[in-house]
Amino acid sequence: MKRLFVPRLARVLLMAAVIVVGVAGFVATHARTAGATSPTVVTIQFDDGNADAYLALAMLNAHGMHATFYINSGFIGDSTHMSWAQLQDLFAAGNDIGGHTLTHTNLKPLKTADARHQVCQDRDNLLSHGFQPTAFAYPFGSFDSGTEQVVAYCGYNSGRGVSGVNDTKVFAETIPPADPYATRTPPNPKQGTTVATIEGYVTAAEQNGGGWVQLVFHHICNACDAYSITQTDFQALLDWLQPRSATGTVVETTAQVIGGPVNPPVQA
Ligand SMILES: [Zn+2]
Repeated sequence: MKRLFVPRLARVLLMAAVIVVGVAGFVATHARTAGATSPTVVTIQFDDGNADAYLALAMLNAHGMHATFYINSGFIGDSTHMSWAQLQDLFAAGNDIGGHTLTHTNLKPLKTADARHQVCQDRDNLLSHGFQPTAFAYPFGSFDSGTEQVVAYCGYNSGRGVSGVNDTKVFAETIPPADPYATRTPPNPKQGTTVATIEGYVTAAEQNGGGWVQLVFHHICNACDAYSITQTDFQALLDWLQPRSATGTVVETTAQVIGGPVNPPVQA
């Protein structure tokens, strides 16, 4: 009995030790998981290349921030859109120039060849002016799997919609996004959307595990368009965002968030 008892005790002690180590390991792992916070990354974006969006440049510069501008190259230089020279200013300051089709066309109903013309030719125009377009935004947020394939075919690394993030279930896009050709955004700020509401999109992400918050603007003006923000409100938003970098909420361009190469031009 005694000869059996000692090894049995040793086995029991060993088993107890294994359990203690295992539980300690589980607790440590669990604590690490529960305590983990992903950073919150905000991307400021302007769709359509509207002339008044050029006002953003000085304000971004003053805050040491860069934005992504989604451009319809077919409209550049007309009376209501930015010029090539203005886009060069944005790019030279570190902003990201992405594509938004030649003429702001709803791609989803188009035949593949026509959709490719709208997306690839727009991208080729931007490349031929020295930009590095890796990011695309779907006009009207309209796309399906075929449209996503066109955007990938034309050499883009990402495609952005205009919805999918809300304050009830989805608090931010993931980094990296589950589908880089279908990235999600909170509701696009409109005339009448308060700065507090826009700030709420950022704090909702911060308080729910972090992630990517794409803030999609169109015009900087006083009620010139349904999708507009005043210069005062845009300034206030940047003033609010700037000090948050100290607590891990940073502003980056789409290209910085998505990464990947600048692909060569693709013939439509
Ligand atoms: Zn647009």
